[in-house]
Amino acid sequence: MGKSTFFNRLIGKRQAIVHDFSGVTRDRHYGQAFWNGVNFNVIDTGGYIPEDDDIMLVGIREQVHIALEESDVVLFIVDTETGITDLDVSVAEILRQQDKRVLVVANKADNEERRWNTSEFYKLGFEDVFPVSSMNGAGTGELLDYMVTFLPEIPEPEETNIPKLAIVGRPNVGKSSLVNALLNSERSIVTDIAGTTRDTINSAFSYGGKEYLLVDTAGLRKRTKVKENIEFYSTLRTNKAIMESDITILLIDAERGFEAQDIRVLMEAERFNKGIVLVINKWDLIEKDTHTLKEFEEAIRDRLKTMSYIPIISVSAKNKKRIYNVIEEADKVIENRSRKISTSALNELLEEIQIERPMPYVRGHQLKMNYVTQVKAKPPVFAFFMNIPKELPPNYRRFIENKIREKFNFEGVPITMVFKRK
Ligand code: GDP
Repeated sequence: MGKSTFFNRLIGKRQAIVHDFSGVTRDRHYGQAFWNGVNFNVIDTGGYIPEDDDIMLVGIREQVHIALEESDVVLFIVDTETGITDLDVSVAEILRQQDKRVLVVANKADNEERRWNTSEFYKLGFEDVFPVSSMNGAGTGELLDYMVTFLPEIPEPEETNIPKLAIVGRPNVGKSSLVNALLNSERSIVTDIAGTTRDTINSAFSYGGKEYLLVDTAGLRKRTKVKENIEFYSTLRTNKAIMESDITILLIDAERGFEAQDIRVLMEAERFNKGIVLVINKWDLIEKDTHTLKEFEEAIRDRLKTMSYIPIISVSAKNKKRIYNVIEEADKVIENRSRKISTSALNELLEEIQIERPMPYVRGHQLKMNYVTQVKAKPPVFAFFMNIPKELPPNYRRFIENKIREKFNFEGVPITMVFKRK
């Protein structure tokens, strides 16, 4: 239908980032976009259409409902090549029952004739029809200019000083059990506050004299008739929780181990520069000798590759064993994420780096790094000034990151490094 092309155009370059993890190369249906200073998320309901014709309509109906619940504006993509289809009519019917703003996007309006034909789509009953061409980009600017005027402002999580912890993970890993164990223990004082969004449950509590907010996706088990939609729904919820929080706490089930979906969650947290803690739950189910945790951890690290900075701990939520390690570990990550390194210490390191591993000659030029400074914390961003930034080899970049991590404690914290021409 060309919807994927449109989706990719909306979320732009971010989509093109190729992740070298196995099992994550499949289509994404959720992305972040940026237009005229506005950051927004795009949900694509495509790709989740089940093959089976009988359940197809049920599935689509469900997806549209889920996406509607989560969104502020609806872009209803239709195809100028085929005109109005039966499916368009059914979808329009569902959309008209909601009070969300619907913009009809008449795609594939690649030429004059098709642009003329887009007026037929007013028959679907919505006020706005935009002819666009995802292929050459025509019309998308006007559409986005108009669309962003309907978006609410998203509050930054950093606005309050109470750290927000998102507890995420696959169904049945023990998220509810952990949250309940934390909240119902004598060691924590719970303040119930109304969820800021309809269906994440935020609980404030204090532990060790510090306050925290748990952004909980547990218990949000949407009844869906089509199994493809369970994942769709949980992906949306999880991403929202990650975005609203400072720290992502990913639970995995000790018996099931680390799965492709878990890697996707971690990459999402990294992409939004959130602090990360990986928690192996149901540790009571594993028969242990002294080496087990280490072996378990190594097997996971092997798959984490570039995310070796993530701390891994084991707990048993059901038996309330070591559950406070989760908060203590999160607390360390919060501290690391706020860390600000002095410019002098950084430049000393930069000198050491270039002595230990001299920068290469590239196309007849000796690369040279002049200066580094930490621009901000929470999350940390480092700016490097050098002669030819675009020639910096990726492995040298990684080398620098490793050195920063060796010398300063940024465990659990994604680091952003920008390289500028001096
Ligand atoms: P959620 O879907 O992630 O919220 O998972 P739940 O908290 O509902 O837990 C799913 C199931 O796993 C329940 O039957 C729990 O009793 C069980 N469970 C949770 N944590 C543990 C644990 O640490 N050990 C064991 N053995 N079972 C657990």
